[in-house]
Amino acid sequence: MMIPQRNSAVKEIMARCLSFSGITWLTRTLLWRDRVAILLYHDPDPATLDAHLTHLRKICDVIPLAALNEPSEGRPRAVITFDDGHAGNAALLPVFIKHKVRPTIFLCSRIVARRRRHWWLHPSAEQAGIERLKRLGNSRRLAELEVRGFAQDGEDMPSGLTHDQIQTMKPYVDFQAHTRFHPILTRCEASECEEEIAGSRHEVGALLNSECTHFAYPNGNYGAREIEYVKAAGFKTARTCDVGWNDSQTDPYRLRTIIITDDASRSWFAAQLTGIPVFLRYLRGGSWDGRFPQF
Ligand SMILES: [Zn+2]
Repeated sequence: MMIPQRNSAVKEIMARCLSFSGITWLTRTLLWRDRVAILLYHDPDPATLDAHLTHLRKICDVIPLAALNEPSEGRPRAVITFDDGHAGNAALLPVFIKHKVRPTIFLCSRIVARRRRHWWLHPSAEQAGIERLKRLGNSRRLAELEVRGFAQDGEDMPSGLTHDQIQTMKPYVDFQAHTRFHPILTRCEASECEEEIAGSRHEVGALLNSECTHFAYPNGNYGAREIEYVKAAGFKTARTCDVGWNDSQTDPYRLRTIIITDDASRSWFAAQLTGIPVFLRYLRGGSWDGRFPQF
């Protein structure tokens, strides 16, 4: 799910300040160090991702999520992840192959491989206000969307990867789970929350004919209840939207992330690798420790 962004002029000024002040280098040396940055994308175009990976491979080792717990060799490491399973991800396959990276794509198991749309991409969500909808109880959100003509389990213009695309990408991509329909889990009733988490594990496993072991919380919303359901469902890790790097001390059900804007210029990408732009955004939301401001 996309996040509102600043305008590009402000971004470029901030990117140059971070670069010329040495902060980009300092964060890599002091914070990233021998830890793992789990980068989070949604739906970038191939040329942008190609430029990002060209830069990234010069400054760190790019590893698959499955290698997260392997011992460090003292160099910064990065994992590439994509949330939601957008149809546009299929065009990234040549970039993954060119750079020899094995990314993880977190799928919404009842949206991909079907004629369905991610709810916030439907015009009715824009009309109702996407950020407002996220804060409603889940049944109320669905009722508001239904009145405007969107049913999450109905047929619609597809926005996710198709079954064939997933099968083609499977040798190069690690597919994991991101719930069934992408509700805000902390706004769901307990039974619905549990079904969204456990159901997506079974469905992604069936789609890929392999065990699904990693989860990503939709929109970064989670609490103690969600962590319990993720553990009970049999997942081994869960990625949050909390800013930071990961090492052997990190709680596997609260993996930290570095959020990257899908259309980031080369300099803004370097700035975002410091974690500072998202940290500042969360700070404005009242979070002082880099954690996504939960609601
Ligand atoms: Zn998402």
